[in-house]
Amino acid sequence: MRQRLRIGGTVQGVGFRPFVFALASRLGLGGFVLNDSRGVVIEVEGNCSDVDAFTRILLDEPPPLARLDSIEKSHLPPVGSDRFDIRASETEGAVVATITPDVATCAACLEEIRDSSARRYGYAFTNCTNCGPRFTITTGVPYDRGRTTMSSFPLCPECRSEYSDPRDRRFHAQPIACPRCGPRLRLLDSDGAPLEGDPLTASAAALRGGGILAIKGLGGYHLACDATDASAVTELRRRKGREAKPFAVMAPSLEWACRLAHTGPAETAVLASHRRPIVIVSRRAGTLLADEVAPANRYIGIMLPYTPLHDLLMRSVRRPIVLTSGNLSDEPIAHEDADALERLGGIADAFLAHDRPVHVRCDDSVVRVVEGREYPIRRSRGYAPEPLEVPVPFARPVLAAGPELKHTFCLGTGNRAILSHHIGDLANWAAMSAFLEGVEHFTRVFDVRPEVVAHDLHPEYLSTKWALGLEDVEPVGVQHHHAHIASCLADNRRAESVIGLALDGTGYGDDGAIWGCEVLTCDFAGYTRAAHLRYVPLPGGAAAVREPWRMTAVYLQAAFGEGADDLSLDFVDRTAGRWRPVLSMAAAGINAPLTSSAGRLFDAVASLCGLRDRVSYEGQAAAELEQAADPSVAGAYPFPLTGTALDGVTLVRAAAEDLIAGSSVPEVAARFHNGLAEGLRHACEMVREAQGLATVALSGGSWQNLLLLERVTRGLEGAGFEVLTHRRVPANDGGLALGQAVIAGWPSPEPGDRGPASGGWEM
Ligand code: ZN
Ligand code: ZN
Ligand code: FE
Repeated sequence: MRQRLRIGGTVQGVGFRPFVFALASRLGLGGFVLNDSRGVVIEVEGNCSDVDAFTRILLDEPPPLARLDSIEKSHLPPVGSDRFDIRASETEGAVVATITPDVATCAACLEEIRDSSARRYGYAFTNCTNCGPRFTITTGVPYDRGRTTMSSFPLCPECRSEYSDPRDRRFHAQPIACPRCGPRLRLLDSDGAPLEGDPLTASAAALRGGGILAIKGLGGYHLACDATDASAVTELRRRKGREAKPFAVMAPSLEWACRLAHTGPAETAVLASHRRPIVIVSRRAGTLLADEVAPANRYIGIMLPYTPLHDLLMRSVRRPIVLTSGNLSDEPIAHEDADALERLGGIADAFLAHDRPVHVRCDDSVVRVVEGREYPIRRSRGYAPEPLEVPVPFARPVLAAGPELKHTFCLGTGNRAILSHHIGDLANWAAMSAFLEGVEHFTRVFDVRPEVVAHDLHPEYLSTKWALGLEDVEPVGVQHHHAHIASCLADNRRAESVIGLALDGTGYGDDGAIWGCEVLTCDFAGYTRAAHLRYVPLPGGAAAVREPWRMTAVYLQAAFGEGADDLSLDFVDRTAGRWRPVLSMAAAGINAPLTSSAGRLFDAVASLCGLRDRVSYEGQAAAELEQAADPSVAGAYPFPLTGTALDGVTLVRAAAEDLIAGSSVPEVAARFHNGLAEGLRHACEMVREAQGLATVALSGGSWQNLLLLERVTRGLEGAGFEVLTHRRVPANDGGLALGQAVIAGWPSPEPGDRGPASGGWEM
């Protein structure tokens, strides 16, 4: 019999064809396998039981990196073939084959680069069909060497024979390379002039000597220094212009990672996974790590080497290094050599570079582990652009333009959402152009022609302006917090109506105010704002975000009136002299938009507690308040629901009174979190009573606060709710585009904005 199989999913660039070849050969079957633009096509011919065995093994035990999404089977008349071939790719037809994420070095390749008798001993660009660069080097589809940045490296005879040998681990490994024919390392000084000596040995010596190095990795350049050397880390902070935001660390090995941080089985599994993200783990006391790596932080972001280059370097450095994105603060990382030299020349003492171009800039991914499961903070290298299956097929092909900060965009087609890699802050020109290039690249390689473009309601977001300027696509405005909750639903492969607790710093509301602590009832079709944090003015707009004390002054004024500056609080002694202009701005409503932001409420309490009056990065004060809290402290401040307003003023008043009464900051911070959690649970109970909804979705950047996440989840589950939290995309704005996509792609008869659902209700 002869059978034809057409397989869709992640089947290119994952060693699928060699696997098929080996299997067919073992079973003595004839036929062929080829990559086409939709995936893989296989024809096998032989006796029935062998063909059945072939299909069964293929579907049950595919190669480790493959993911089979669709299988079409058909029977053909036998043609009498008894040999099996791998045929050249077909390039015509619709392109829906997946580009796979980059994969960390596999065990076999690691062994090889450490084996002094092997051809690739010490070779920094070793890879095989099971590992190596993919997304960052791919320029087109179908995935073939000619459509990668390896196309300029002609294979030497030995590599060619491995590439052509179906029994070899590198059979049809597109980025195959060796020291003879592949990319080469070089060490350059800060002006780009080549330096003498072995690049790896010299780089390791430079790091151990306290130097700052720019290192070209998979998705761009990193900046590195010895993480145990306080003065090197301080110098890197100074040169990079990064005051306090934690740096990530690369540990030489899993053993080293466990020495630096408390890592349970789930953490070590994620650290060592083939995706190799930065994992935020709780830091051990008294390690060699310099405090300056993550000042005033109980956590540390650790990753393991994920390319042979990193592995070889770390084996020579033999201690953890800071490995942070190669940029000045807030810029996207440099990924082109000339640009890197120009932008990083003033930061790095030397460049460990190479001649394999990076086609797509890609940052490291960041995850936490919550309840034994990945909780994404930034979804990028190793994850993007793997398609996410969605619960309801897109009615039409969609492009979601995404937010302004932590930008990602999303394509939706069929039952797949393709969320981009991390792009960054669109106000930065380089990020904006990466966004535009990314849309062009993704629509081409995934062959999606969007008919709908989803955008945030914020008129000043550059992504919104861009979306509204597009021709031939229908724009659909999506409210920010509705998108957050829809993102959480889609992330959990759910589509029903839920209660959404959307908590973050800033999102444009449909009334023009700045929202950020929202209790919504919603599904993909629409939302109702059931409750929200009581509005307060945001005096000075962006200035109030940088200076949390302004929010504290506003809240104290609202809580205590004229007597606020007589309170016996450190905060008052410290700041009361600066209140007048801020409070009059707030009272007059001049440059003081109204806000229900959860982020600003955290800021207010953090500054009240004396933790921080000024921040140097987004979310800093809230993170410090979370870490200050003593989780064993019971008691909760009142956070009452009056009408549809959750009263943050009452909450802050209670915190201030508790401080005056002599309670410690760890107690106050804990009771604040507990109060918030109880108030939110109460609001959900009110909604459940009125509407019968018993599932709550948690989304928005504030849910990066694990104490809040744990308190709210426990409270809601204790009250009989089902709680949905993120697992595949971030709760912060990095996951927003997924929600925009599923809302705009929802099969709705009426075109136009998905505004508040009609028939709202009162509580
Ligand atoms: Zn490998
Ligand atoms: Zn070679
Ligand atoms: Fe947000």
